[in-house]
Amino acid sequence: MGLKSFSDPTRLYGLNVWGENNFIIEDGLVKVNHGQRPSLVHITKKMRENGYKGPLLLRFPHIAVKNVKRLFSHFERAKKEFGYGGKFKAVFPLKVNQFPGFIIPLMEGTKDLDYGLEAGSKAELILAMAYTNIGSPITVNGFKDREMISIGFIAAKMGHNITLTIEGINELELIIKEAKRLGSPIPKIGLRIRLHTGGIGIWAKSGGYSSKFGLTSTELLEAMDLLKEYDLTDRLSMIHFHIGSQMNDISPLKKAIREAGNIYAELRKTGAKNLRAINIGGGLAVEYSQKEELSNRNYTIEEFTNDVVYLLKEISASKGVREPTIFTESGRFVAADHAVLVAPVLELFSQEYSEKSLRLKDKGNPPLVQELYDLYSSINSKNAREYLHDALDHMESLLTLFDLGYIDLTDRANTETLVHLIIKKSIVLLRDKPSQEIKDVLERVQERYLVNFSLFQSLPDYWGLNQSFPVMPLDRLNSRPTRSASLWDITCDSDGEVAFNIENPLYLHDVDVEREEYFLGFFKVGAYQEVLGMRHNLFTHPTEATINFEDDGTYRIENIIEAQNILDVLDDFDYDTKEIERRIRQQIDESDSIEDEERKEILGELYLYLSENGYLRTINFNE
Ligand SMILES: *Cc1c(COP(=O)(O)O)cnc(C)c1O
Repeated sequence: MGLKSFSDPTRLYGLNVWGENNFIIEDGLVKVNHGQRPSLVHITKKMRENGYKGPLLLRFPHIAVKNVKRLFSHFERAKKEFGYGGKFKAVFPLKVNQFPGFIIPLMEGTKDLDYGLEAGSKAELILAMAYTNIGSPITVNGFKDREMISIGFIAAKMGHNITLTIEGINELELIIKEAKRLGSPIPKIGLRIRLHTGGIGIWAKSGGYSSKFGLTSTELLEAMDLLKEYDLTDRLSMIHFHIGSQMNDISPLKKAIREAGNIYAELRKTGAKNLRAINIGGGLAVEYSQKEELSNRNYTIEEFTNDVVYLLKEISASKGVREPTIFTESGRFVAADHAVLVAPVLELFSQEYSEKSLRLKDKGNPPLVQELYDLYSSINSKNAREYLHDALDHMESLLTLFDLGYIDLTDRANTETLVHLIIKKSIVLLRDKPSQEIKDVLERVQERYLVNFSLFQSLPDYWGLNQSFPVMPLDRLNSRPTRSASLWDITCDSDGEVAFNIENPLYLHDVDVEREEYFLGFFKVGAYQEVLGMRHNLFTHPTEATINFEDDGTYRIENIIEAQNILDVLDDFDYDTKEIERRIRQQIDESDSIEDEERKEILGELYLYLSENGYLRTINFNE
């Protein structure tokens, strides 16, 4: 960690790497780079004044809309640059984020574009029909039964521009049956192709020969035969592939496009005269890293769009076919940036080690404890490294003396406190002198921050896939953070921790949360996290709110959805909550240790708790 980046919070927290200009640091605060640039702390405090405590999920629809516009404008730019004759179209894949607080403003904000929705289940298909403008594309992927195909036919009758992408020959047979039963209009048909090219990384099963999805070459030919036999060739309009999410390297996509481009040309030659589109699925990656060296993708959006357009132009020319419509289903790219989780810090574990808590004896302190006290009193930037080493040595000796029975518990408490105080001081004194030692010290003596959120609920991919998310404090960015931090959530699961990692270190401020509030922002949590979140320990979704901007740049907090209260969570688990209430009331009525006149009051208090959400509220004055 160089000196420069420590004093520049934008670099320290990597905003220049992951921020995409959506957030900026100004006056020591993280601000939304839109409208009158409100700070996230300001928004958070407004919510808290209205009683919404605990973690907050803030949605910024303008960011999602901006990402869709970026996608369109980059493809349009690349098309112009390469003189590409085909069109560009896109849909949002619902599985990435189906929540109304996201989908409704997304579709509202993009209605001037030819932007639609992709569905992978019946429920998603209903959403796609309800929220896609008539004429804009709907695509349907995933395994389908007859009912799902019928819904697709109904959508076509409603006037929707819908494409059913078949994953296997049996689905085509079902479409043929439904076409006989229901007649026209018949939805457009897409064929998912099974690539020779493998998928990527942890999503390898999305593409390639071992893929769960797609038709082999033999099956493609078989599908063409069936389409011809039933006079449906003109419905075949798209071929589709998806090589997996968060592709870090662009080369598998390039291979896949070559393969798909050639399949497209071959199918057109065998008579698919209305085959116009190649759907390249999703996979466009998001930069989650807070350090340039750890970047999760080796390409930019310019490069991505250039490669796709250029390759398809080249293949079309060499095969002598018209340039296909390019279709994308980027989800993560559109959704990830739009949501920020704001979580209050409840406690710093080493806060108990303050000078106040020293219990030095008037006389009879062991000489080494006295020496620790002298080190603590006289440490300065010149001797800090040496004194720190001495302190750690003394601690070892003193702990051994305790084990042997030579010093008492008070001496041991003084030892722990003094060593922590010396560590804290030396970290501050040494921070301008980056060295292996200070790095080692920071790695060894982290501060543990207890944070009011559930990692399982709000960052499930951190737990399940080791996906890191940008995290940083929302204020105090004018002053340097001095503590290497590990973050603990409030579940009682030891996996609920964002451990300190020296390769990707998180430094936070040394705050006294008894006296001042300190909030952390977890950024880019808008893709996949909400729907995959688990109610581990019965922690429910955090309270969410949408931040909308007026034309004059002011903002409004809207669509607040409060975290579920305890009774509702239990009800969701199919407990009979009336039965729970009855049992509790009975236990209170029958308890010998409760006075009769107290019973009503105690029951009332308990009811109050049942009507609140389960996140922590009163661990200190903040909550
Ligand atoms: C998941 C999925 C997507 C979205 O992928 P992202 O990586 O989020 O862009 C697109 N298409 C299909 C078929 C998918 O299954």
